[in-house]
Amino acid sequence: MSGHQTKACYVCGNHQGNRLRYPREMMFGTEEKFEYLECDYCACLQITDTPTDLGRYYAGDYYSYKVPKEKNYPPWLLKLRKKRTRALLGERDAVGSLMARLSKHRAEHFDWLSRAGVRLDSAILDVGCGSGSLLRQMQRDGFSDLLGVDPFLEHDTDYGYGLKILKRRIGDLDRRFDFIMLNHSFEHMPDPRQVLLELRTILSNSGTLLLRVPVADSYARRKYGIHWVAWDAPRHLFLHTVRSMHLLAQQTGFDVIDVTYDSSRLQFYGSELYLRGIPFKNQKPYAPGKGPKAFTQQEWDCFAQLASELNIYRDGDTACFFLSPIPTPTGLYSA
Ligand SMILES: [Zn+2]
Repeated sequence: MSGHQTKACYVCGNHQGNRLRYPREMMFGTEEKFEYLECDYCACLQITDTPTDLGRYYAGDYYSYKVPKEKNYPPWLLKLRKKRTRALLGERDAVGSLMARLSKHRAEHFDWLSRAGVRLDSAILDVGCGSGSLLRQMQRDGFSDLLGVDPFLEHDTDYGYGLKILKRRIGDLDRRFDFIMLNHSFEHMPDPRQVLLELRTILSNSGTLLLRVPVADSYARRKYGIHWVAWDAPRHLFLHTVRSMHLLAQQTGFDVIDVTYDSSRLQFYGSELYLRGIPFKNQKPYAPGKGPKAFTQQEWDCFAQLASELNIYRDGDTACFFLSPIPTPTGLYSA
């Protein structure tokens, strides 16, 4: 195959030896086939024709838009949570440190927030926030300047106390942020280079951009091929690799300063079930204890153990890319 002229890669422009792949829609199980190009140079997977009616593939029960249950927390508990947050962000707080040690499970977002140098009063933007459940959790953790944007929301919501969720595009924003995060939204965007250029203009020069995405150069992608659960055709338009993310960053005025892996057992159970033709929406009965078809607890634990080992070996199927802006006095990288 290698050597012949093929359609060019969106990221690196390579047009030699690129291959075509045909995964199916498996979240809802329509099994509709989509064409993706796999770049021979940067290995990024990309849909060759973005469906014009993408909204059709985000049905009302699409998981990001489910409004989570509201809980009411008493003020004394919120004060203690704020102390815990300080400690988890690396600030000195004796009570908070004790609380952090006593907490049964550490919320994973603190792993990235502390890595990104975020503080309680940082201006934080969540792009593609869905219903905003993470931001609402962060509000309860004591963060005071939180904005979420998502063009697919039905309406704006002002939760008060420093949290707003707006139906907006990135280009509509006219203020700067210390920390911008895209939690599994970047791979849904049809023009990621333009997105990075726009983000570059609203991120402060000392700020951090976090892109949490599925990665195509991973064990699960190699093992399961087109049945890899995180491929998620046609919603995931780009499945990046470490190389393609570095290239995109270079083209848009960013440095990739760190990559950490945060894959979960989903890469195994979801892909195993896709191999058997079972769509994501029908996968609930396969959790241990849910009935005769379920995985055993031993298999379930093994999936999680394998995921954490792959993360250590930098081969898990999801990763956190931390980007910092390269200062440009002339505004060279303006969108
Ligand atoms: Zn490429």
